Amino acid sequence: MNGLTTANLETMTIEERILLIRQSLPTPVRLIAVSKQVSSQTIRLAYKAGIRDFGENRLQEAIAKQQELEDLPGITWHFIGHLQSNKVRKTIEHFQWIHSVDRLTLAQRIDQLAAELSHNPNLLLQVKLVPDPHKSGWSVPELMMDLPKLDQCHHLRIQGLMTICPLGLTPDQIQDLFQRTKDLANSIRSQPWQNLTMTELSMGMSGDYTQAIQANTTMVRLGQLLFGKRP
Ligand SMILES: *Cc1c(COP(=O)(O)O)cnc(C)c1O
Repeated sequence: MNGLTTANLETMTIEERILLIRQSLPTPVRLIAVSKQVSSQTIRLAYKAGIRDFGENRLQEAIAKQQELEDLPGITWHFIGHLQSNKVRKTIEHFQWIHSVDRLTLAQRIDQLAAELSHNPNLLLQVKLVPDPHKSGWSVPELMMDLPKLDQCHHLRIQGLMTICPLGLTPDQIQDLFQRTKDLANSIRSQPWQNLTMTELSMGMSGDYTQAIQANTTMVRLGQLLFGKRP
């Protein structure tokens, strides 16, 4: 499959890009439009073109835009940034999904506040199948050790795994990494957990989403491909 690139999309409007990219995605794949550093006016254009899932990585920036977009019904907000424990409360009040849960203590903190606030946030566990000092997330052995405790977080809907590829991999290496992430989710799913579900995969950004689709991801997180290059 040939991916669309930012270069050949540059001359198109956001509406045209969204249409084209949606057509290129298999129907079950959920398109998360990553709107970090994108204005609320531009988010409005994407909404008009049919986008209902938006991803943000900074809490304050996201809350400001959410307030400006309050008149738009039916938006699902996805938190994709590094989450500090002292920002958990606001994050679960403002986001329905958190893709970037990267440590047990954070999951337990979210569970505790979710109980207090009577929310049931949807979570993805961020994993690293290859070591990457620039990214947080569980290694496979660490995750295996923590799964029983994660399964006891009864207020969380742990839906699957999220991963970000390290820079500098070849397309084949990226493909392999996504495939192994999917295999990991499947192997966790085959165990008898009470609470963990492992049906969702959040893999693939503008530069590598075609490989993620080949590995049967269920969500892609696209920013620059939809909105143009970030400054
Ligand atoms: C910024 C970001 C994206 C989107 O990246 P693009 O290259 O703009 O598609 C996806 N996932 C995460 C976690 C991000 O921080």
